[in-house]
Amino acid sequence: MKAIICGAGIAGLTLAWWLERDGWDVVLVEREDGPRAGGYMIDFFGSGYDVAEMMGLLPELNKAHTRVAELSYVDHNEHGEGGIACSRVASVFDGRILSLMRGALEQALLDAVKGRIHIRYGTTIEQVSDGDAVTVRLSDGSVQRGDLLVGADGVHSRVRELVFGSQERYLRYLGYHAASFVLRDDELGRRVGDRFVMVGVPGRQAGLYPTNDGRLAASFIHASPDRAIPQDPQQALCKLYGNLGGLVRWTLRQMPQDGEVFYDQVAQIEMDYWSRGSIVLIGDACHAVSLMAGQGASLAAGGAFVLAEELRTGAGVGRAIAAYERRMRPFVQDRQRTGRKTARWFVPTEHWRMTARRIAFAAARLPGATAVLRAAFSPLRDSVVERPVEARAA
Ligand SMILES: Cc1cc2nc3c(=O)[nH]c(=O)nc-3n(C[C@H](O)[C@H](O)[C@H](O)COP(=O)(O)OP(=O)(O)OC[C@H]3O[C@@H](n4cnc5c(N)ncnc54)[C@H](O)[C@@H]3O)c2cc1C
Repeated sequence: MKAIICGAGIAGLTLAWWLERDGWDVVLVEREDGPRAGGYMIDFFGSGYDVAEMMGLLPELNKAHTRVAELSYVDHNEHGEGGIACSRVASVFDGRILSLMRGALEQALLDAVKGRIHIRYGTTIEQVSDGDAVTVRLSDGSVQRGDLLVGADGVHSRVRELVFGSQERYLRYLGYHAASFVLRDDELGRRVGDRFVMVGVPGRQAGLYPTNDGRLAASFIHASPDRAIPQDPQQALCKLYGNLGGLVRWTLRQMPQDGEVFYDQVAQIEMDYWSRGSIVLIGDACHAVSLMAGQGASLAAGGAFVLAEELRTGAGVGRAIAAYERRMRPFVQDRQRTGRKTARWFVPTEHWRMTARRIAFAAARLPGATAVLRAAFSPLRDSVVERPVEARAA
């Protein structure tokens, strides 16, 4: 059996790993010219953590884990306004949570498929036609025929556009823009220490945290009624965040001026169905939950695993895809609802909500707060993966 996978990100690489192990011939195409380092930090837990464990990736991922001691809110003069010890959050997940740069997670997956799967970098899918088999024309001019075509090409998926129609039909804009970049600055590093420092005013929030290779990563989220991405993201960030105090101004001065700045809308993808015949979408391409839900990478890995597991039953590609959708959909819908609710608290646009958030963080330091946190976070601990013994990697 042959699978063509478009997108060598979290979902695509995870699926490629499992399918190759199950004896599939895998063709993996990736638009970028090579892996991208850095990006932004993700919390990796639940389904993603379970899948990584079954793939034997935890030793590598533990090495890449960034130990952040505290999430600290500070004012424009860097005076503390409250926060929470990250160990408290980790204990809610019984320690089964990792803080990773997205690039480090992708690199661990790349190392796992190395020598087993050839990735066609700098290549995308230009045309798709389906019948008994799926035929695609690639941007390098070649034509591939497969038993399965998987769109694992992220929130702005090309496969989705080619097969299911325009992005506008499926993208739910959550009213925010997000940006991030990685920098190296010893003085800033000393000021930040081992904290995730956040500075905010209603509708705008900047954050700075250490990466585990001695650098820093900066993140920015702001409310914007206009979903369009600015022509010059660097200039827009300087204009929007330049008045958030010395720490943020200094950070902005270190912003790379080339393409190393991530900037995108904060959005979810909602579709009534994720497949047509032997063509199926996985990960953000069909169910982006957004950074507000903080679980997109975990769900991307979880969905890839579930699809591979259903394909392994031998019931046929069509039935496997239907079973994958049935298993994933309730889970994803729940996380999308959570993400939409969280947005209002993640980057509040009202003063009262910012005050309420500060009070909540102060309360989180009190004895007994762990029980409250555990209750609040417990749905996030659920996993789409049942970790059956036969699915464990040898
Ligand atoms: C700021 C921020 C913070 C986040 N925080 C978290 C978090 O804490 N926890 C968490 O779990 N998730 C988090 N996420 C979400 C997470 O990064 C995504 O949900 C996850 O990366 C989705 O994986 P994916 O494989 O579906 O897509 P991606 O990781 O986006 O991979 C898609 C791949 O497809 C490639 N591609 C795109 N178009 C094409 C094309 N036309 N042809 C070929 N290849 C193509 C891309 O180059 C990429 O390699 C965050 C996201 C952001 C933006």
